[in-house]
Amino acid sequence: MTKFDLVVKGGTIATASDIFKADIGILDGKIVQIGEQLDGGAQTIDASGKYVLPGGIDSHVHISQPSGDGIVMADDFESGTRSALFGGNTTIMPFCLQEKDRPMREALNAYHELAEGNCYTDVSFHLIVSDPTDSLFGQELPALAADGYSSFKVFMTYEGLRLNDAEILKTLDVARSTGATVMVHCENEDAIRFLIARHEAEGDVAPRAHASTRPVAVEREATHRALTLAEIVDVPVVIVHVSNGEAMEEIARARSRGIKVVGETCPQYLMLTADDLDGMDWEGAKFVCSPPPRDKAAQEECWRGIETGIFDLFSSDHCPFRYDDERGKRSPKGLESFRHIPNGIPGVETRLPILFSEGVMKGRIDLPRFVALSATNHAKTYGLYPEKGTISIGADADIAIWDPTIKRTIRHADLHDGADYSPYEGIEITGWPTTVILGGRLMVRDGALVGKKGDGTYRSARAKSTKTI
Ligand SMILES: [Zn+2]
Repeated sequence: MTKFDLVVKGGTIATASDIFKADIGILDGKIVQIGEQLDGGAQTIDASGKYVLPGGIDSHVHISQPSGDGIVMADDFESGTRSALFGGNTTIMPFCLQEKDRPMREALNAYHELAEGNCYTDVSFHLIVSDPTDSLFGQELPALAADGYSSFKVFMTYEGLRLNDAEILKTLDVARSTGATVMVHCENEDAIRFLIARHEAEGDVAPRAHASTRPVAVEREATHRALTLAEIVDVPVVIVHVSNGEAMEEIARARSRGIKVVGETCPQYLMLTADDLDGMDWEGAKFVCSPPPRDKAAQEECWRGIETGIFDLFSSDHCPFRYDDERGKRSPKGLESFRHIPNGIPGVETRLPILFSEGVMKGRIDLPRFVALSATNHAKTYGLYPEKGTISIGADADIAIWDPTIKRTIRHADLHDGADYSPYEGIEITGWPTTVILGGRLMVRDGALVGKKGDGTYRSARAKSTKTI
């Protein structure tokens, strides 16, 4: 008798709290039974010898974001979600950028149109606040939060994007009254501009100068300020892409004062250093992202943060630009000075294999911690839990089956994004997701794409009153 659409049999399941052997019965896109010896699946997947984990959620991904001045992002929703899927993800959260003098709703409608019918994973959106008008704070954001757009991103850096402290306070205040979550990119723009002017005056314009104009102090000060502003408004805050121990200390100190802070770090701060920005023929541009990668000591500090709980989220900050392309890293202006090189690197597909291989297989973290950092905490932070981010009765059947015996070298040629390089080229990886299930539907089976564009859909996110983190 057929009881299930799909049964995943014989695998080792891990959630953010437990590891156990069981079968999973899936019906109508949901997990309906977890137990031993489940039979009666219209389709059965043998997962013996494999890990059965919640599909990854990458809550920090940039796709089809307007990047100004002839620069074009390398991924649209099709290539970005396809790449995410092959990296073991079932949900990603890209950013909708409000354009100046235009309503947020207009940007959002356009963004929905780009995503509709083109996704291989589910998607949910963050809203970037870039035109901080009274009507945005008074009417638009509260209405949007109620409609399921319950996280706002603010930038303390980037010309045209940065908000001043007063504007950040207003954004935090809207979050407090609506239950939305605010993500803050912490770098001191005025200090960066000062250092850029000094470097350019000295003729130091190569990609490496990107790192020296954004030193740790720039990030540490802004992190402290963002946490102070959140403390004044009395609202939780997410500090994104933390790159070093000094910014981590600010998070720890804020928590000791009772401030609710969610901390995020990314693969580039574990695997890259500022030395990667040196490189022949402008190749350092491949590693230009903000905050910049630091040094070996900072990598170890970030690992410590992953192990000890300073970090709740491990995200890619996938922000892809092609390297050998006039619309990307080698844009005509970008070749004049590091200042014009588009900021951001690809990584949505390699995020989880890197954390699995370097973290779990090397004994730094256990599987439940891996699941928390890669899926569960993202769902909890952004209002998608418990439908997303865990393996439990009633949850969406979003599952990644990992083979811990696979050994692979990262090669961009094997990846599925729209960029033309990977910053992680050549890194040896143990363990890879071989089968990915989205809402009960097989999307990747034994490494081959079997799902189709449009199988992934938009998911709204609840505001904080029903959240659990
Ligand atoms: Zn980002």
